[in-house]
Amino acid sequence: MTENHDKLKDSIAAYCLGALEQDEQQALESHLDQGCHECQEILTEMRLVVQSMPFSVPGEKPPAELKQRILTAVSTEEYAAPAVVSELKEGVARASKKLVEEAKQRWMRATWALSFAMVLSIIGFGVYTQSLKKRVALLENQVVIGAQLVEGLQSELDRQRRILNVVNSPNIRIVNLDGLDVSPSSQGVVYWDPLQSKAMFYAFDLPQPPSGKEYQLWMLRGTQPVDAGVFSLDEQGKGSSAIATLSDSAALTAFAVTLEPKGGSPQPTGDMYLLGVVTKG
Ligand SMILES: [Zn+2]
Repeated sequence: MTENHDKLKDSIAAYCLGALEQDEQQALESHLDQGCHECQEILTEMRLVVQSMPFSVPGEKPPAELKQRILTAVSTEEYAAPAVVSELKEGVARASKKLVEEAKQRWMRATWALSFAMVLSIIGFGVYTQSLKKRVALLENQVVIGAQLVEGLQSELDRQRRILNVVNSPNIRIVNLDGLDVSPSSQGVVYWDPLQSKAMFYAFDLPQPPSGKEYQLWMLRGTQPVDAGVFSLDEQGKGSSAIATLSDSAALTAFAVTLEPKGGSPQPTGDMYLLGVVTKG
């Protein structure tokens, strides 16, 4: 049995390749049927090796003459099996090496592809971040513009309220200002509420002031001019200003507009553009 086992064990490789004579094959199969654990393990191993070869490396099939060599070796009772095994092992080693190389290359390709994808996504993320930053900046601008608009509307609303407060007063007085020689077509009007000591002034068709100059409104108390503030013009030559307090309004005799250096003057120095006399009544 043991002697038989040693010989049969060496024929398992040839058996896997279908290279045994029928009686040799039957002898091995009956030995395996008797339950030789070691031979069964070798057989399983060999089968795996042989099965893996055609799939992994097509070129590594056993040479066609191998069967004949094995048959010859067996029939002449040469001890040929170890050579077959080592040939198979070499084939497996070559196949394994090739598989490992292929796996390495696949891994490298995958790594490159992954790196490239990461670079792309990093660039993409950068671009996305940039566009987000731009969008945020745009939104911030819009918020600022919106806030300015609200502020502008609020101040316009306040202005309208001041006008309404003046105009709605039952004691409202209106003083018209006429354009003088420097600009005869210009006009102005003061809505004046003596009880509330408040007034709104409007100017129309004033020429745009030269740079460094500004129009200034004056109230004349007797013949004494009192500063009522500078005002700017819009593109149509319209301007307005609120006169918060008209102290000693009973003494007011006239309103006037002169062209003064920017920021205004303590006393009028430039040409007078508008003049309106307060009629007593
Ligand atoms: Zn055995």
